[in-house]
Amino acid sequence: MPAVNVAIAPAPHRSAPDMPASGPIADRFGRVHRDMRISLTDRCSLRCTYCMPEQGSEWLARQSILTTDEIERIARIAATHGITTFRLTGGEPLLRRDLEDVVARLARIPGAEIAMTTNAIGLDRRLPALVDAGLGRLNISIDTLDRDRFRELTRRDRLDDVLRGIRAASEAGIGPLKLNAVAMRGVNDTEIADLVQFAIDHGAQMRFIEQMPLDAGHTWSRSEMVTREEILGRLRERWAIEPVPGRGGAPAESWRLDGSERTVGVIASVTAPFCGACDRMRLTADGQIRNCLFSNSEFDLVPLLRGGSDDAAIEGMLRRAIWGKLPGHAVGDESFLQPARGMNAIGG
Ligand code: SAM
Ligand code: SF4
Repeated sequence: MPAVNVAIAPAPHRSAPDMPASGPIADRFGRVHRDMRISLTDRCSLRCTYCMPEQGSEWLARQSILTTDEIERIARIAATHGITTFRLTGGEPLLRRDLEDVVARLARIPGAEIAMTTNAIGLDRRLPALVDAGLGRLNISIDTLDRDRFRELTRRDRLDDVLRGIRAASEAGIGPLKLNAVAMRGVNDTEIADLVQFAIDHGAQMRFIEQMPLDAGHTWSRSEMVTREEILGRLRERWAIEPVPGRGGAPAESWRLDGSERTVGVIASVTAPFCGACDRMRLTADGQIRNCLFSNSEFDLVPLLRGGSDDAAIEGMLRRAIWGKLPGHAVGDESFLQPARGMNAIGG
């Protein structure tokens, strides 16, 4: 990978204190963690080029996938120590047959908010039950509105299914509804304004994500990536844009369109990382805690879950995983090593 100069946005430096045994789950830079991304499966109904290989995926062994009881136990322990948002992801969470049960059980945890990131294939049929179960927020991925491009990009001819899912979410009034697209040169960079209009028409916020080096094929290159600046340039071709203040810990910066209430989000994970405000931890479908998308280390909860350990041991593992978090990632830096897992197996 070529050496490029990408800024890290580190957490503010503090002298390293000892790991606290109680209180909220925090790292040594003072970042308190509130958000847990839970991957329910590494399998998917699509094969997006930036995420999965066309074929030859080595799937996680079925017996290694966490059961719903195990997920609920981890979530309850995390919630007791300050985690308030659980975002279900994958792979494709809709491929999990008992998804409604997962949502219902997590939604019963006091103070928990349940969100999901999905490609929306089959969502129209399952949405009423998911909403009843307590699903609160929904992010749907859609990178292009062009059927041929969609087929090339995802290696599946399923655009109509995705559009049906988006319509169902829009009509259900689930809110806030967000649509996500990875911006890609020569693929959808000319569609940026059209995607924004599509989202507005469906009562949703469009968000554009800089492509990250998490593809299974390890083909990411910085020079091919569409940057935040380019995305903003495309938006300016159609609207006057101004930043919305008060981003907080959110990964997306919001931009107001023509002074209206309508906004677009830009997630500049590579060129303007938001590591300093990161409050996320990840639980993979096979029970590993990851403190960062780009981390090369994992903390295995399975021996504890299946070996009769008590809740305190699991809490301790969550705390240790987050205590070891680095101040920022160094994507694009010469020393950067792409994680062995593809995005589908980490949980985006
Ligand atoms: N299958 C669901 C979906 O696509 O929404 C959930 C899992 S997917 C891994 C979660 C998000 O990660 C999607 O919005 C997807 O576009 C994004 N993603 C996957 N690979 C990426 C990459 N290399 N760079 C940036 N975003 C990526
Ligand atoms: Fe599947 Fe989502 Fe990865 Fe696309 S981005 S291959 S929909 S997990």
